[in-house]
Amino acid sequence: MNTEGMQLANIVLEYVNQPNVERGDGVYYPRVSAVSRCPRDMVMHRYGEPWSDPPEAQWGTQFRFDMGHDTEDRLIVAMEKAAISVQCQQLTVEKRTEDGHKVTGHIDGIAVIPHEYPGGGKWYVFDVKSAGQWMYRKVYKSGEAKYEHIKQIAAYSQMIVNDPKFSHLNGTKLQDLNVEGYEFGGGLVGYVAIDRPTNGRFGDNKEELPKVFFASFEIDPEEAEMFLDIFDEVEDHYENKTMPGFPHPKSDAVWGGIRCTQRWCSRYSVCQGLVEPQSPELKEVLNG
Ligand code: SF4
Repeated sequence: MNTEGMQLANIVLEYVNQPNVERGDGVYYPRVSAVSRCPRDMVMHRYGEPWSDPPEAQWGTQFRFDMGHDTEDRLIVAMEKAAISVQCQQLTVEKRTEDGHKVTGHIDGIAVIPHEYPGGGKWYVFDVKSAGQWMYRKVYKSGEAKYEHIKQIAAYSQMIVNDPKFSHLNGTKLQDLNVEGYEFGGGLVGYVAIDRPTNGRFGDNKEELPKVFFASFEIDPEEAEMFLDIFDEVEDHYENKTMPGFPHPKSDAVWGGIRCTQRWCSRYSVCQGLVEPQSPELKEVLNG
């Protein structure tokens, strides 16, 4: 065991992690990227509850997050080299929920696929996701985007542009943008495999998979609007001083049951009643 090497790594990871832990996840506000979050976590956040289980330095959570950002830029550069234009990068969109709460979001861009390419002659609301082995394999095998990514992109498509950097587009619903010569195709996710992607088997049965995979999907506008209902539910709980129950263990909100651990949920201990809440409001709700 190389003890010095480990100690050095710990110092580096601590430096990356420390500001992340101090910052936490900030003040709650409705943002589209959180559309698939666990409702209990969202409501605790809304009550101002800080993380009870911040990430440990050795997990490199912030490091991994930053790598995801780098990946996003790199894929967009690669796509543009391949003549796929990615326009409106980081465009801000917003929309009021049915109960009037403002939700905001930033898209990675819109991808305009040349006519002669597969799925071409169309433009798509586009997002890049970096994927670990498990997620990448699942998406590649099924050929379909992950449901939480579909929800996020579909919700963006029904939102209204409000961005000083793109003021000529302000007031337009995203899916109604006019991209001359191209029709709206729906959503597109570009998945980038973080590790060397394979089918997970050994020896002669091992198959190398491509580093990048694209999954497109159609968008049902009515369904897309409903995805924002979660933000009204959070506000309802906040106003009525209640907490949502535990999601079904198989629910996507808790990743089919694996999320409810200190490793993946930063409010695990307070959610499970292992520690007292710090927020006086949440304390009142939980303890009466
Ligand atoms: S522990 Fe599970 S149910 Fe509780 S907030 Fe976290 S993800 Fe949600």
